Amino acid sequence: MIFPCFRKLIGVDTLYAIEGPRHVIEWQPLGDSKWLIHKHYASDYPRYQWVSELLAEAGHAEAISKEEWQACLARRSGEDERSSLPRVLKNWSFAANTTFGVDAMATRAVEVQSDADVRWVLKQTREAGLPLLVLGGGSNVLLHGDWNGWVLKMAIEGMEVLSDDGRELDVVVGAGEGWHKWVMQALENGWNGLENMALIPGSVGASPMQNIGAYGVEVKDRFLWLEAIHQETGALERFDFARCEFGYRDSIFKQAERDRWVIVRVAFRLDRKAPLHTAYGAIQHELQELKVDVPSHRDVAEAVMRIRRSKLPDPNVLGNAGSFFKNPILDPEEFNQVQKRHPQVVHYSLEDGRFKLAAGWLIDQAGWKGHRRKGCGVHDLQALVLVNYGGATGSEIWALAQDIINDVQEKFGVQLEPEVNQIRG
Ligand SMILES: Cc1cc2nc3c(=O)[nH]c(=O)nc-3n(C[C@H](O)[C@H](O)[C@H](O)COP(=O)(O)OP(=O)(O)OC[C@H]3O[C@@H](n4cnc5c(N)ncnc54)[C@H](O)[C@@H]3O)c2cc1C
Repeated sequence: MIFPCFRKLIGVDTLYAIEGPRHVIEWQPLGDSKWLIHKHYASDYPRYQWVSELLAEAGHAEAISKEEWQACLARRSGEDERSSLPRVLKNWSFAANTTFGVDAMATRAVEVQSDADVRWVLKQTREAGLPLLVLGGGSNVLLHGDWNGWVLKMAIEGMEVLSDDGRELDVVVGAGEGWHKWVMQALENGWNGLENMALIPGSVGASPMQNIGAYGVEVKDRFLWLEAIHQETGALERFDFARCEFGYRDSIFKQAERDRWVIVRVAFRLDRKAPLHTAYGAIQHELQELKVDVPSHRDVAEAVMRIRRSKLPDPNVLGNAGSFFKNPILDPEEFNQVQKRHPQVVHYSLEDGRFKLAAGWLIDQAGWKGHRRKGCGVHDLQALVLVNYGGATGSEIWALAQDIINDVQEKFGVQLEPEVNQIRG
């Protein structure tokens, strides 16, 4: 089933957009020109059954196309009225909602399921002059303390195929969908190209933020466009590839446009015959272990998942945010100086002539791997990952990170930069 899909009650103007097996938005006619909007989340059996019946076109519901649905909506042009506002939660804890698991609180948090919800939250915080933190899965943030403002927790669901020529297809996905769930859903449909990025935690909406990537593939390689709502004006704008200014774990949303937009959906171009990226030795090793001679895209995803499970600490067991630091990129001159002093330095040559150093190697050589301090430390298998053994505060983890940065600078003359977003309340 491809979501969203659209239904209409026969003989009546009531419309439904079914955005997932449990999530339906209903438009009921109100007077001559308005709609009353209900948002249903089917958390119990009768409601789940009701959504299933709508999907099966049982009862009085009939399937309509997106165009028919849009035409019906347009017949009543009056302003939408909301029957339900998003629920505002007070004293919201980050411990359970971020993978580092540090104990910090937000004054308020709201889970948003539509563009209208996003605009409503923006209006509330703007009018009250309160800071706003946009959060997806919370897997790339470190809270330095409590957040004296609101959290907008992205939960816009849905997926829609925009075009399909039999080989390539363009698909748009709600920003609140889980990244890994989307990757697996795409692979199950035979839509390939994202397999090397299986099991990266977080949301679809955050994926272009830092141009996530793994095993030789980055989001930019399959990115088509995204839509985002401006935090000041509430305007929806489309960002194409060029406008996003993607770089290594970087985009315009981490630079000039930082904290200005809420990304609400992302479109990808996938390819049923996407080339496989299996050059990484670890992937080849896993494929051999799996006894696969001619790998499929699904096999590559399986190999990637096996590597990740064996190498990276599971945030459900040990708090962390993946690689805490970026791999530093040096100009040839800077690189030659480092290599002269440290001939063993692990590095990769980039197409533009620069060199990427393995930050994990630098940290390991500086003696930090496995180092433990109070409730936090450097993972004993993966020096790039800082971990919360339990009870560490964000400031303690940041103090450890700064000591590592200073030590690596002193020993190698190389400046490390955090990959994880530092949130100071
Ligand atoms: C175990 C582990 C392994 C990881 N491995 C990788 C890896 O291999 N490759 C990789 O690239 N990353 C990796 N990461 C980092 C992380 O998974 C990604 O950065 C991911 O994209 C973060 O998504 P999120 O929804 O959790 O973002 P969050 O942590 O919620 O937010 C990250 C930043 O994006 C902003 N943001 C989030 N959603 C939106 C939105 N809709 N609109 C505007 N701004 C938004 C937030 O304000 C914040 O600044 C790993 C993390 C962990 C814990």
